[in-house]
This record gives sequence, C-alpha cells and structure tokens, in this order.
Amino acid sequence: MLQSSVKYLPGIGAVKAELLAQELNIYTYEDLLNHFPFRYIDRTKYYQIKDIRLANTDIQIKGKLKDIQEIGSGRKKRLTATLYDDTGEVELIWFKNYQWLQDKLKTDTLYIIYGKPNLFNRKFNIAHPEIETIEEREKKTFLKLQPVYPSTEKLTKKGFTNRFWTKIMGQLFKEINLNFKESIPDDIRQELKLIDKNKAIFNIHFPQSLAWLQAAQTRLKFEELFYLQLQLLQKNLERKKKIKGHIFNNIGHYFNRFYQDILPFELTTAQKRVIKDIRKDVKSGAQMNRLLQGDVGSGKTIVAFMSMLMAIDNGFQATLMAPTEILAQQHYQGLKQFAENLGLNIKLLTGSTKKKERNEIAENLINGNLHILVGTHAILEDVVRFKNLGLAIIDEQHRFGVAQRAKMWRKNNPPPHMLVMTATPIPRTLAMTHYGDLDVSVIDELPPGRKPVTTLHRYRKDKLKVFEFIKHEVQNGRQAYIVFPLIEESKTLDYQNLTDNYEKIIRFFKDSGINTGMVHGQMKPEDKETEMQKFKNNDTQVLVATTVIEVGVDVPNANIMLIESAERFGLSQLHQLRGRVGRGAAKSYCILMTDYKLSQEARTRIETMVATNNGFKIAEVDLKLRGPGNILGTQQSGIMRFRIADIIKDATLMHTARHYAYRLLKDDFLLQHPKNRNVKYFLEKQIQKTGFWNLIG
Ligand code: ADP
Ligand code: MG
Repeated sequence: MLQSSVKYLPGIGAVKAELLAQELNIYTYEDLLNHFPFRYIDRTKYYQIKDIRLANTDIQIKGKLKDIQEIGSGRKKRLTATLYDDTGEVELIWFKNYQWLQDKLKTDTLYIIYGKPNLFNRKFNIAHPEIETIEEREKKTFLKLQPVYPSTEKLTKKGFTNRFWTKIMGQLFKEINLNFKESIPDDIRQELKLIDKNKAIFNIHFPQSLAWLQAAQTRLKFEELFYLQLQLLQKNLERKKKIKGHIFNNIGHYFNRFYQDILPFELTTAQKRVIKDIRKDVKSGAQMNRLLQGDVGSGKTIVAFMSMLMAIDNGFQATLMAPTEILAQQHYQGLKQFAENLGLNIKLLTGSTKKKERNEIAENLINGNLHILVGTHAILEDVVRFKNLGLAIIDEQHRFGVAQRAKMWRKNNPPPHMLVMTATPIPRTLAMTHYGDLDVSVIDELPPGRKPVTTLHRYRKDKLKVFEFIKHEVQNGRQAYIVFPLIEESKTLDYQNLTDNYEKIIRFFKDSGINTGMVHGQMKPEDKETEMQKFKNNDTQVLVATTVIEVGVDVPNANIMLIESAERFGLSQLHQLRGRVGRGAAKSYCILMTDYKLSQEARTRIETMVATNNGFKIAEVDLKLRGPGNILGTQQSGIMRFRIADIIKDATLMHTARHYAYRLLKDDFLLQHPKNRNVKYFLEKQIQKTGFWNLIG
C-alpha cells in the first residue's frame, strides 16, 4: 500500500502526481507521508487587525462585518465585505461561487476568519478566507495546530495551497492503515520516552495537541539522527575491524628523549590528551583515522611531530603534507631543528624541489634512510615510494579532497595511520556528521601566556589614522600585515587593486624608513618564498598580501593584521587571518576596515569577530549564517539534507543519537543479533536510498 503511486490518491491524479515527482521527488504514498510540515499555525490564537503584516501564511482574526456587497460587473464581479475589530478594518473578497455566502453573511455577527493577507492599493485584503461563526467553530472538531507544508512556487500556482496539502494528507490517512514497523529499539524508546512510529507519523501531520506534536517531532528527529549516526559509526567500526594497522607498541628512545630533553615548553593539557588519544589508536591494531581540530596557534604541529616519533620509534617512516609551499617550508624549518637534534633525517619535497634532490629523496625513502618527509601534494605522486610508511599527517585537511586522503592510504600496505589536522574549527555536530567516519580530537586551549588579539572595526574614512597607528607600532619594532580580498571573478582587476594600493602604501611608509613587501597568488612560488622570507627576517616590516598568507604562516614579531574590505571575507577566513598575529610577546591588533554601508550579514560577521577570539564560537555563528553546505565548501552527498532534524537546533539530540547508535553497534556492529533485525532492515533501506555509503571516506 505504501508503495502505491500518489496518482491513485483521490484528489491527485496523473497531472498533479507528475508535478509532485518533479518538484519534490514525491512518488509514493510513503514519500507523501514523509513530507512533513515545517511549521504549524496555532488556531487558538487570533490576530488583531492592526497587527496584520505581509507574510506568506494564513492568519486568524475575530471580527464583525459591514458593507457586504457585490461589486463590479461581468467577469470582474465579486463579493466584498469589510471586517472590523477594535483595532482596524480589512477587506474580504470572494471572486467566484459566492452566492451561498452572500445569502448567509450578516452584519453584527461575530465571525472567525482565516486566510492569507495581501497588500493592494496600500491596504490589506484577504481573498477567499474561511469564514465561520463562533457557534459553528464550537460545534466542529478541528486541528488547533494547522500544519504548514513545504511547497514550491510552481506547485502553489497549480493548486497546491496549504489547504490542499492538508486535504490530501487527510485523504492519505483515510486510505492507509497506520501500521509501520517500529524502527527504534524498544529499550531506547523506553529510556528516552519516545512515542511509537505510528503515533509520531500521525501527529506530525495532525497534531492532537502541542504536547503530542512535540513528542512526534522529537521522536522523528531522533530517528533521523540515529540512523545517520548508525551509518557513520558502522562504517567506522567496520573499517577498524577490516583494516589492520601497524602496531606501535614501543614508547621508545626518540619520543622519550624529545619529551625530556628537547621539547622547549610544557605541553598544554589538551595537547597531552590528544597525544594520549593517538597513542591509544596506534597501539590498537586497527588503522588510525583521526581528525585533530584546534584553533590557529593551539599547537598542533608539536602533536604532529610527537606522533611521528611514535612511528619512528617502532621502525617506521612518517610524512607531513601541507597545502601550500610556504606552509610546507615552514613546517620543515620548524621540525628540522627538532629532528636534527635527535639525529633523524628529514627532507622537504615540493613542486620546486630540484630534480637531483628529488632523486636523492626517492632513493633514501625507499631504502629507509629518510625518517621524515615534509612536503606539498608532490608527496602524492606515484614516484614517491616509502620503505615503510607508518604515519601520514595532513595539515589543513579541508584544503585536500577525499581522493588525496585515499592516495595517501595507498602509499603503504597496510595503510599508514592517518592524522588529519584542521585549524578551521567546525561545530562539533557538523564534525560529527561530516567527518562522522573519523575519530575526532580537539585542542581546545591555547598555550599559556598568549595575549588575546584586540579586534577593532574601522571605517575606510579613518584609513589615515589606522596607517599612522601602524607606522607608530612599526617604529617601535613591530611588523604588520595588510591584506586585500581576492575576488574570484576578476583576478586581474583584483591584482590591479592590490598593486595600486601597494604603490600608495610604499610611499606612505617609505618616508619613515619602513620597507614594504608584497605577496599574491599570481607570483611564482620562489618569489613568494623570497618575499615571505624577507618579512620573516624583518627586512620588510609591512607585508601587503592577498589571502595567500591565510594559512599557518608564523612570524611572531608581526602584531598587526589590517584587513581591507573586511566585509568581503567570510568569517572563517577572517579568523584564520587574525590567527597570523598574537604569536609573540607584544600586544596584537586585528583591524577590520570596511565601507560605511554594510549588509546585515556582513555586520554580523564583523561584530562577531570583534566580540570573540574563540574559533568554535565563530564557527557556530558561521554555521547559522551560511548553513552547513556552504561551510564545508561542498554540498557533499545527502548527509546534510535532513528531513526534520536541524543540525543547529538539534545539536543535543545529535549527541544523544550518536551515543545510542554507538551503544547498539559496539557489541553487534554488523547487526546480526535477532533483536537488531528491524534496525538492520531500516538501515539497509536508508543506505540504498541515500547511497551515501560510498560517498565518504
Ligand atoms: P597551529 O595549531 O596553528 O598549527 P602551531 O603548532 O604552529 O599552531 O603552534 C603555534 C605556536 O605555539 C608555535 O610557535 C609553537 O611552538 C607554540 N606552542 C605550541 N605548543 C605550545 C605550548 N604547549 N606551550 C608554549 N608554546 C607552544
Ligand atoms: Mg599549523
């Protein structure tokens, strides 16, 4: 029955069925049942006429009628009446088939009307409202919460008004027997006090009360999130069972020596916790797949290095891949000192590594002399072969795709342990979903003594003052970044923008003996490198740049980040840029320069930046502003398109769902136990439908 085509439903027919398929992917009775209202109108509430606003929904008003009359002629003939209450008047209009109404409507009777207000000649009217007397209302049983269904413009034009939706849902429930198989195990339902599936489905469409509606929503949201988490966790557990990993049993010489003699600071509690997570993974016998999230400057690199030492202590090689040449170079410089202190061999491999050196690297990788290889995606090339790669680390993982992660896997058999790192904090719920098949560790504290960056919003008219301020700081020995936005549509124009401004900036600073450098995306890597190096060495004190400096660049003496046209940057980008300063002892500033006119969203972004330094808080705001699809950069698979749950509002429920999904799978990850038969059935059905099984990892 549930698989019947909707065209057989009374009131629909072939034409409307075709429309439903096209517009909303609704083919069967079951699809229709799963088309849930997205909100409900409370029919116990009345509007006052003065409060009417233009909105795309029905409202309910109590009032009396006057001036009931038929006006116009021919096809324009219509019945009108004025509805009034203590606060104002609104016109009601009926265009056709109003004879019976005309005979019935009376002045001085209190009516309840229900309909959608339109604005016409600057006055509100309501066409074809439902109208009934108080007595009529009291006699009838009706839904106090009127569902509002998601629809499309085309559907609405072709007669799918909300009233029609409600009507066909009524038809549907007459046709079917509500006897769904229960999809949530009884013990979980009891613990969480979730209502059964049939009651939930019925009440989501025809809520018998607010309490029933809420119970139905919770139940259906939980179901959706539970099955999502089951999919993700099952994959995770399956992989752990199937894919064997190297076992790093020894905490050995290198790790201990580094920790005791070389490590220049005390690790933060968060860093220690993450190192423990990793230790546990690499001893487990399964391949590690861990995401390490930590705000800019939280100290991920040292965690990465100490993980490498675990591999090396057990006779394996390790590699670290970064998305840009500058970053790879910087990692290499930083780690080289440590490695050489320990007597370990480390090399850098990037697109600009010379042929001769490449060959040497290749040789030493395969014979095992080289312990650590740092580089860009050049590492992924097939000619790069390791003797025994035990651990691969990918920095700024969001810059790489799944394919690249997979390529790294294939560098060894069994695959290396994988640690992917990101400084773009994504809200926990999103991480749990998007990276659901990875284990997640978070560094949620900054090393001690870090002074928070002071963030200021300034309008462009105050540019000169800002520049004077920069000059003042630089004359006191500091350095500054000045960043311009990169406009994707017009890279050349942007380049001009940058160079034009560059000329002006040079002139401004030159008179005070301050040197200015420039980096942008169109420069050759070597030139970029030279410019960056000059800035690092304090040969230049002001660096004018596009966002190429966004990721990871470390110049502790730089204490000012001026971002021009800051309204054109996204929140996470702004936060990344700000992370370039605040790394040294001096007080640091991030100055966001904007136009006077700002969109509401841009203003929220700027205000958020000024209000907080916390990357996770910023990520939450970003998620609210832009939605999950945009944050992850891709509309990856169907994971984020929830039917009823909301990844932002239902974060707590998502955690609960994950907990219960894990509890269920922990002892029976293949769902072979008879008591899990229903869950297995529904999970397989869902995997068939979403197909996203194959899309991640
Ligand atoms: P990110 O997480 O952004 O990659 P880094 O690993 O580059 O951060 O670390 C930022 C800076 O903090 C580096 O200069 C690093 O040496 C320093 N650092 C890292 N951990 C600590 C710590 N526990 N105590 C003091 N300084 C630290
Ligand atoms: Mg880093």
